[in-house]
Amino acid sequence: MSRIDCDDFRKFIDPYLDGEFDAGERAAFDAHLAACSDCRCHYEQKAWFINAVRPCLRRPEPMPEAAHQRLHARLRTAQQPERRRRLVRRLAPVPMLAAAGAVLLFVTPLTGFAPAVVEDAVDQHCQKMPVEVPTDEANQADEWFSGKVPFSMDTPRFRDDRAMLLGGRLSHVRNGERNRRAAYLVYGVGEHKVSVLVFDGRELGLSERGELRHVKGHPVRVHGARGYRVALYQRGQLAYAVTSDLPEPEMLKLIGTSL
Ligand SMILES: [Zn+2]
Repeated sequence: MSRIDCDDFRKFIDPYLDGEFDAGERAAFDAHLAACSDCRCHYEQKAWFINAVRPCLRRPEPMPEAAHQRLHARLRTAQQPERRRRLVRRLAPVPMLAAAGAVLLFVTPLTGFAPAVVEDAVDQHCQKMPVEVPTDEANQADEWFSGKVPFSMDTPRFRDDRAMLLGGRLSHVRNGERNRRAAYLVYGVGEHKVSVLVFDGRELGLSERGELRHVKGHPVRVHGARGYRVALYQRGQLAYAVTSDLPEPEMLKLIGTSL
């Protein structure tokens, strides 16, 4: 295999990522990767899934075949050249935006200190704990949490082509002295990991802290903590803490698709 094209690259990306090639094959793939920005974008997205998301999916039961097929269909959709170019254009300014955001966070005094729930949200976002319910179906997640959390679960349904539910597990958030049961969900959004903690928001004083934004008329409080953003909002009696390294406008837009 001296030269490969894009089709070969996509077809054999898994063994390439898993390091199953001999030196000659590897060199041909490396050369294509260096020369082809489309395949590089695809490779980076795939590598993100493997490094950041696959550990979350390690679990006793294998992923159901239907979910597998949906995941692969989703990955295939994400590989179409037009979408990829749009994705590249969208992502290009991100490092600058992120840097600007970091500076802003540094010079803008935060309203009060980060509440415990923000700390908990970032802690859980950074952990590579396996999910207990691997699913890409919000309904299945709702069912699984039913009876395990002391509230009627409503898993966010992000209506965004790049967003995909990967699974959930039981969790908790601190509120004053008390620990509350919470549902933890993880999503892949493009190449970003997005975590959502869902818990009973009644009697929780979320209103005073963070930067106040409005998404489709809903108040959302945005906190910065350890390089991540945590957006807190309430729907009915449920509170949601969404954590990611997405730029704030993208994060608020994503949240808006579920409201
Ligand atoms: Zn290519």
